[in-house]
Amino acid sequence: MDPARKASNAHDLPYRGRFAPSPTGPLHLGSLFTALASYLQARAHGGAWLIRIDDVDCARSVPGAADAILTTLERFSLFWDGAAVYQSQRTAHYQSAVERLSAQGRLYACTCTRKNLVQWPRYPGLCRGRPNPTAMPHALRLITEGEVVTVLDGLQGAYSQDFDREVGDFIVWRSDGIHAYHLATVVDDAEAGITEVVRGVDLLESTPRQVLLQRALNFHTPAYLHLPVLVDKAGIKLSKQTGAAPVDLRKPGELLYSLLPLLGFSPPSELSDAPADDLVNWAVAGWDQGRLHGKAIEIG
Ligand code: GLU
Ligand code: ZN
Repeated sequence: MDPARKASNAHDLPYRGRFAPSPTGPLHLGSLFTALASYLQARAHGGAWLIRIDDVDCARSVPGAADAILTTLERFSLFWDGAAVYQSQRTAHYQSAVERLSAQGRLYACTCTRKNLVQWPRYPGLCRGRPNPTAMPHALRLITEGEVVTVLDGLQGAYSQDFDREVGDFIVWRSDGIHAYHLATVVDDAEAGITEVVRGVDLLESTPRQVLLQRALNFHTPAYLHLPVLVDKAGIKLSKQTGAAPVDLRKPGELLYSLLPLLGFSPPSELSDAPADDLVNWAVAGWDQGRLHGKAIEIG
């Protein structure tokens, strides 16, 4: 048994996976790679695969991007179960999680600005112990107590964070009134009954914060599998910010055929002009997470 599954107290449940894109633009090759791997992992376990649109930060969301992402997934025969969930419609759930944390005395108001924190490598607890609440715009931070959280990742192995040294008390509700990504993802993954989170390795360092929130909220901790990310020749992760092109929707089969070797497959040449659904089904049947390696895959 691999260590991540042993570590999870969710391992006896039927598999439920998810893909949770932020709608900041159309899918690029790197995000399609993540979607494909998480889909294959879920379907090869005979499990469900859900879609969640992480549109918490409306300022960063691009109109139409969520629909474009869903259309792209369909084009590539990555069909999800149930209706896509939108974080922008779930504020009440995040609010009630914050109320639970607050009732446990785990939160405090923080009025620090980015500017007066630049000199600190991590939040030094400046607002801890100040009278609550304040009328000024404030964030809410979770009190950490020197925890050392170790995640046993299905691909990256053991990853630990020492909260005192590396993280400090962290924000669960932002001063602009928006819940933080960590809180939202933990609430949503728990409510959807996600048994394994498969996502890019760039989010590995977020995981201990999410595990700490799961413990505070009495949620199970899913298994984690952090995939290598696609990088360019300079080692930079493909992303919208660095101008990665949207995936070309014209020949989905051809593009899938070219992605499969990055997931450790050697697809036979007869499949080079197969339609997307044939390729996806072929990949589900032959999927082996053991063929994934490392943190980055360079693409030409
Ligand atoms: N929405 C996040 C992103 O696109 C991913 C969240 C997650 O998988 O936990 O980076
Ligand atoms: Zn503060």
